[in-house]
Amino acid sequence: MPVDPVCGIEMDESLALVHEHKGKKYYFCCNGCRKIFIKKPKKYKNKS
Ligand SMILES: [Zn+2]
Repeated sequence: MPVDPVCGIEMDESLALVHEHKGKKYYFCCNGCRKIFIKKPKKYKNKS
């Protein structure tokens, strides 16, 4: 299951919001988390 890199929540892929960053897909539980990631992707992108 994909993990939200911002808050660390595991979620169902079908419910997640997807954001592509440098060819890699990231999944988020909500638009708030996605916005945080988009603002500072370097802070989160190394977490798996
Ligand atoms: Zn989240």
